[in-house]
Amino acid sequence: MKRREVIKNIGLLSVSGGVAGTLVPAASFAGTRPSHRDLFKELGVTPVINASVTMTFLSGSLMLPEVMEAINSTAHDFANMYELQDKVGAKIAEMLHCEAAMVTSGAACAMVLGTAAAITGKDPEKIKLIPNLPGARPEVIMQKTHRYLFDQAITTTGARIIEVEGPEEMDKAFNSNTVMTLYFNAAQQSSVTREAFVALSKKHNVPSFMDAAADVPPVENLFKYQKMGFDLVTFSGGKMIRGPQSAGLLFGRKDLIEAAKLNHSPHEAPIGRPMKVNKEEMFGMYAALKAYLERDHEKEWQDWLTRIQKIKKIVESVPGVTGQTHIEPGPANAFPSLDLTWDEQQVKISPRDVQTSLRNGTPSIVANAGKGPDGKPRLRVGVVLLKPEQVSIVAQRVREILKNALS
Ligand SMILES: *Cc1c(COP(=O)(O)O)cnc(C)c1O
Repeated sequence: MKRREVIKNIGLLSVSGGVAGTLVPAASFAGTRPSHRDLFKELGVTPVINASVTMTFLSGSLMLPEVMEAINSTAHDFANMYELQDKVGAKIAEMLHCEAAMVTSGAACAMVLGTAAAITGKDPEKIKLIPNLPGARPEVIMQKTHRYLFDQAITTTGARIIEVEGPEEMDKAFNSNTVMTLYFNAAQQSSVTREAFVALSKKHNVPSFMDAAADVPPVENLFKYQKMGFDLVTFSGGKMIRGPQSAGLLFGRKDLIEAAKLNHSPHEAPIGRPMKVNKEEMFGMYAALKAYLERDHEKEWQDWLTRIQKIKKIVESVPGVTGQTHIEPGPANAFPSLDLTWDEQQVKISPRDVQTSLRNGTPSIVANAGKGPDGKPRLRVGVVLLKPEQVSIVAQRVREILKNALS
């Protein structure tokens, strides 16, 4: 269920008098949908069990109860958005041990705003003109092996990406048009270490930007890169931090965050105006981060392992099926999931066909099929995004599909 719909529902309930007293506490919305109105049904939208990872096309993650509470409890009053962004940002900066912070509409927006800030500073003329500044295009230095889909957020500002390989080439790439350097934290290969990357950026007095969007857990990563010297860091709000899906964090150097804010809504004209963050999402992002930092991360990790054992035990009751805990090395999606393999002579179905069958069944379950490190096809069942009651549903469905394929 979408935020807006929750809010609308509450609005309807409160005006209908007596019903208001029966309002379900906000916290309970996160796990279960209220029974009085099923908007999934009303619109014919299929609810999906996510036995995979956070993916935007699958609506990211489920907001924490604390986030729903923040959204619901702040929806009833107006606020000055400049003040709200400043106050939420100050609190987030305090929590993350950095100079300044802001809430963006996702990490991709943070990349646009960070680059824009590096280009314009606080110059109102430049803020007005970007991405159509006169003169040579601003340049952002990246490692060749770090090029990825999301770097379009950089060129959206009119900047050009300069690809480099190795520290020497990077050192030579700086010139008077260079406005920023970008590090993709989860890149498979790097020819410049994070430390050298920061040092070279500092040497040339150019701000360095760290994209660590999907890189919690571990929670320590939220502190690591600013400490390392990166001037700007982004994390998605709607991945494992479980804030609003359309929110993100941008934090780091104060002058850059100030400039990024000038390039953002609620100012009417700048490049970031179409990337608005609403009041409830700002409160929600703050609540999500606070809850995430306060959580018992070790216990959560143990819970994930327990889920894996539970599913493994049920599925391994099918002859020939073996389950193994897989821990993604990270930095992105660095959490455990269950890898299932089987003897296809005995269980006559491929992991890909199991995946399809799971997706097309009721309830629809999204899992991953692919090849393991040994090249063997496997089904990967994610556990970190499952609601508690979905653990056995997923296990039983996988078992059933595999059992039906027994020769
Ligand atoms: C998810 C992701 C983004 C985009 O983040 P949003 O919060 O969805 O805008 C950017 N970079 C990387 C590496 C990501 O994983």
